[in-house]
Amino acid sequence: MTVLGATKDPLADARTQLSRAVDVLGYSPGMFDMLATPRRELTVSVPLRRDDGSVELLVGHRVQHNLSRGPSKGGLRYSPDVTLDEVRALAMWMTWKCALVDVPYGGAKGGVRFDPRLYSRGELQRITRRYTSEIMPIIGPSQDIPAPDIGTDEQTMAWMMDTYSVNSGHTVLGVVTGKPVALGGSLGRASATSRGVVHVALAAMRHRGLQPVGATAAVQGFGKVGRGAARFLAEAGVRVVGVSDQYGAVHAPEGLDVPALEAHVDATGSVVDFGASEALPEGGDLLFLDVDLLVPAAVEGVIDETNAHRVGARVIVEGANGPTSPAADDILGANGQLVVPDILANAGGVIVSYFEWVQANQAYWWSEKEVEQRLEERMVRAWERVRDHAARHDIPLRLAATSMAVETVTTAHLARGLYP
Ligand code: NAD
Repeated sequence: MTVLGATKDPLADARTQLSRAVDVLGYSPGMFDMLATPRRELTVSVPLRRDDGSVELLVGHRVQHNLSRGPSKGGLRYSPDVTLDEVRALAMWMTWKCALVDVPYGGAKGGVRFDPRLYSRGELQRITRRYTSEIMPIIGPSQDIPAPDIGTDEQTMAWMMDTYSVNSGHTVLGVVTGKPVALGGSLGRASATSRGVVHVALAAMRHRGLQPVGATAAVQGFGKVGRGAARFLAEAGVRVVGVSDQYGAVHAPEGLDVPALEAHVDATGSVVDFGASEALPEGGDLLFLDVDLLVPAAVEGVIDETNAHRVGARVIVEGANGPTSPAADDILGANGQLVVPDILANAGGVIVSYFEWVQANQAYWWSEKEVEQRLEERMVRAWERVRDHAARHDIPLRLAATSMAVETVTTAHLARGLYP
């Protein structure tokens, strides 16, 4: 099994990105500390009765980074790599993302440290319900609204929503997003992050003078984000020549048949051994393919100062959160490669989560077409704002996006004032 790109230090990366934005904005050290520090953190024990009758103790976290603009919002991750610092970093990126695309939330994130592939469905349900009841005092439709992330899905959200509702004595649809459509989930939510990544990727390629039809792309990660990104890129005429997952990578210079690859993954659980392709020596090599577009859509910290000079793509669009370290950003920028940052590129998920929350709170449902049109409008508008701001100030897209978002959050914070 190839497991590459173990997280380096996502919190250090997030704080460096913030400090670069704060420098541009000319804010005080006190304001940096306020923006760099989560408002609220909760660490909980999650005791699990395993199917064999033994008891195992898992640890979970929920971090609410900022509450200035509204309730906090962010995914729930199940992974053996979860740490409190990783959750803090992911919560901070959520704050900037929500501000950048103007959804009325602060950022949050949650995680439970375990490998969900090693647990039965019954065990996953018990973990989810116990974790939810432990963090219940700080979540809610007007407090903090979880959603799926690595290792969790719409079933996880259904269990969370049910646990919260049973303990509240009535059904509370707005407590989580990314729910099944039968339970108040939004049409178009499952594909939203991937669609948003592709809207921005196509715009960024054109911005760099690359015609999407016939251009080449590689996608790292074939989960909820990477899989849809590969599919929508292929539908737009882009030749997806390589994809990877945590088990390995496949490569076809003439372009992979993405629907056939999806069928292979459904049947086997991995991209590995997909017939119409050749293997790469290890998953990470996918990052170094000579392609027009690279979409890292797996985990954070995969492109750093040790390997950035080997990344061959002209345009890198971050489907994952935090895949590129600040030092790698500098190397890629110096090489003339365009990096479209996570807080812009993968914001489609939180945009449609916001639509889902609005629909749930109003108990009025939109059509899939309405959701997709509104998503595209917001993604394109956010891309254009960031592109223009970067050009006006002659700064990289990440610095433009982060400083715009930090300014929005700070303006809200200052307008509210310090209590008491
Ligand atoms: P997922 O669990 O559905 O999929 C993760 C994929 O990455 C799997 O295919 C896994 O095999 C693969 N992977 C893990 N480690 C890898 C490695 N080292 N090399 C190659 N592949 C590897 O998770 P997801 O929801 O698709 O999330 C992926 C990323 O996108 C995360 O950074 C997440 O925070 C971010 N994100 C997700 C959403 C969303 O709506 N799900 C929204 C915004 C951002």
